[in-house]
Formats: sequence, structure tokens, C-alpha cells
Amino acid sequence: MSLIVQKYGGSSVANPERIMRVAQRIVKRKQAGNDVIAVVSAMGDTTDELVKLVADITNKPPKREYDMLISTGEQVSVSLLAMAINELGEDVISLTGSQVGIITNELHSKAKILEIKNNRLEKELNEGKIVIVAGFQGVTINNEITTLGRGGSDTTAVAVATALKADLCEIYTDVDGVYTTDPRVVKKASKLPEISYEEMLELASLGANVLHPRSVEIAKEYNIKLAVKSSFYCCPGTYIKEVEELENNIVVSGVACNKSEVKLSLLGLPDRPGIASKVFNRLAGEGVNVDMIIQNVNYDGVNDITFTIDEDDFNGTKELLEEMKESLEYRELIYDLEVAKVSIVGAGMVTNPGVAAKMFEALAQEEVNIGMISTSEIKVSCLINRSEADKAVKAIHAKFNLDKIGER
Ligand code: ADP
Ligand code: ASP
Ligand code: MG
Repeated sequence: MSLIVQKYGGSSVANPERIMRVAQRIVKRKQAGNDVIAVVSAMGDTTDELVKLVADITNKPPKREYDMLISTGEQVSVSLLAMAINELGEDVISLTGSQVGIITNELHSKAKILEIKNNRLEKELNEGKIVIVAGFQGVTINNEITTLGRGGSDTTAVAVATALKADLCEIYTDVDGVYTTDPRVVKKASKLPEISYEEMLELASLGANVLHPRSVEIAKEYNIKLAVKSSFYCCPGTYIKEVEELENNIVVSGVACNKSEVKLSLLGLPDRPGIASKVFNRLAGEGVNVDMIIQNVNYDGVNDITFTIDEDDFNGTKELLEEMKESLEYRELIYDLEVAKVSIVGAGMVTNPGVAAKMFEALAQEEVNIGMISTSEIKVSCLINRSEADKAVKAIHAKFNLDKIGER
């Protein structure tokens, strides 16, 4: 008997008809002789609506209360799905993150799972039940509700699969796999039958929100078999594997775009040891993830440092840096809220010179200006104007012939 963990995203459970369809899919898997745990997101745009409600009350919500609120969507969907499965005559139970024992750290809104106490899950499975788990949420050791970051139900699924040593973790969503770029932006994007953990981790971290980055990180670390599939059609999907298991080694596998970063610059910082450490240690202490960083050449004993962060962290970071103006002795803080980061990812990049140049050429041909660049062995990212992001993604996708990837 195999243990399968499935995850259904918001669009897959957006209304009662879809919930019934998901219930049928789960029951079919169970009746084929498998143990099934299904992790579920909130229905449709529920979480977005909850976030909007907050904005009507305050732009500085207490972090604990924010998580109390935005975790509620999943409690609705798990219970409805359990009722649907019950209607189909199968034994089922729905559980919240805290009932399962998904223990996280205290970092509200981007908490990390520390441990899953799997005795409750094992008990319910041993009693022959299908178990439905609320995604996206956990609980601290002090019994406070936390959430794992937007899109975090994928991570719940992979973490549950890891804790119970599941045979397979399937992520069911509104696309039938991982594409060379977001198929909503580029109609001609190609579906990838397989991709390495490393490339998928980069794509997800760089904005391909088909998978939550942390879910890929955990799957890679614990070697969990992971697949992305459509919850609407029956087709093979995309398998995420070790690079050695791939049939083809593609130079560039995909283009990702992140439209939720903002750029800040500290101008006229004193050019002496310890200044960058002071800035970034303080931000790290507040749980702010800093992404791209550049420091320009020293002039007259001062430097400028420019960096990008997630837009959700903007208000807090701005306030913090303004408070630190005297101690950091910088001249001015400026920011740009209208930036986007476009990136290419590919494991074969490191052995193929000229890949970055080709990306820059695609942007130049569209007259897109590059503000910042960062690279690693398997990715190149450029910060550009947000209004030009879709045009840039299309141009880069075409430049690398990614619409023909299936033909290679
Ligand atoms: P769910 O609610 O099921 O978790 P998401 O909206 O989080 O679904 O993720 C699926 C969406 O991810 C797709 O509808 C698609 O627009 C987007 N997406 C972005 N990049 C990619 C990509 N490279 N391949 C497939 N989908 C992508
Ligand atoms: N419902 C949460 C969100 O919208 C978690 C998820 O969908 O994975 O971000
Ligand atoms: Mg998602």
C-alpha cells in the first residue's frame, strides 16, 4: 500500500462543484488501495479577500492577529471537502495545522516548519481514514497560530510527505505542469515533462509561483518525489527530480518574473567597515529578506548601497532605515516601488558562455533598461521597470526559443 500526499490549490476548490470533483479524485485514489492525505488551500481568492479586509482597518496589523485572520480560509475548505468525501461514503477527517501538530517558529506570516508531530496523522490513517489537512498554517510551541507565507500550502504538503515518508507528493493546480514561463503571460510557453530540484527551486524563488520555494527546498533535502499536475484534466504533469535523473540537459529551462519586489537606495553612506553589516543585520533581525544588493564605487569617502526586498516588507523597512539615519550617517533614502525582476534559469548555463549576453541582448532589442544584475551558476536576474516586465519575459522567452523546448 502506498501513501500519497496530494495538495489542492485555491482554484481547485474554488466552489462546491470543484470541491465535489476533488473529493471524487481523492476517493478514487483511496479505493485503488492507497492511503491518502490531502492538503488544501483556501477556496478561490479567499486569502486575498481576507488581506483586503485588513487594509480597510489598518496598514500596521499586529502580526499575531494577521495570522489568526488569514489562516481561517483553509478551515472552511478542509471541512467542506471532508463533508464532500463523507457524502461519497468514505471515512474521512479534516484537521487544522495545530490539530496535526505542525510546529513552526515564531516568525508570523513567513513561519518555518520545525517539526510535524505525526502521531495524529498516523492514528487517523491507521483507522482507514482519508485525512484532509489545512495548508498554509502551523502553530508555535506557545500555541500561537502562524502562516507559512503566501502560497505556503505546497510547503505543508511536502513537509507532511516528508514526516510520513510518503511515496509521492502531488501538487494539483490550475495548470497541467511547470512551464518554461508563466503560461498566462506567454501563451506559447512549453510544458516541461521534468525539471531538476535546483532549477525548480530557482524558478520558484524568482517568482514562478506554481510552487512555493520552501516546498521545493524540503523536497530536495529529503528526496521527496514531487509532481505538479492539473486538477481539471488527467495528464502526466511535470516531475521534479535529481539532475542526474533528467533525460535532457537544457541550457535555459525557464524564465521567471517577480513583480512584488521594491528597490531602496541609501545614498552617501560613510565608506568604512561595519556599515553594510549594521544595515543588513538589523533588517535580518526584523525577518526582512534582502534579495539583490549592489554597492557602488567609493567617491569622497562615501558609498551608495542599493538593494531589493519584498514589497510587503517595505513600510517596516522604510521606517527602520529612517530611524537609523543618524547612526548610519547616510545622506538620503530613496526608493522605487515600480520595479520587476526577470530571470532566466538553467542547469546547463554554467558550461555555456554567452547566456547572460543573450538575455541582455533580448532586453536591449526591446529597449528595456537594466537597473541591477545578479547571477549564480544557474540563473541570471535583471531588475527592470515593472511596466515593461511582460514585454521583457516574452522577448527573453523567444530569444532562447523556449516555445520549441518540447521539440529538442
Ligand atoms: P494554486 O492556487 O493551485 O496554488 P497558484 O496560482 O499558486 O495555484 O499557481 C499556479 C499558477 O502559477 C498558474 O496559474 C500560473 O499562472 C502560475 N505560474 C507562474 N509561473 C509558472 C510556470 N513556470 N509554470 C506554470 N505555472 C506558472
Ligand atoms: N491560501 C494561501 C494563499 O492564498 C495559501 C496557499 O494558497 O497556498 O496564499
Ligand atoms: Mg500556489
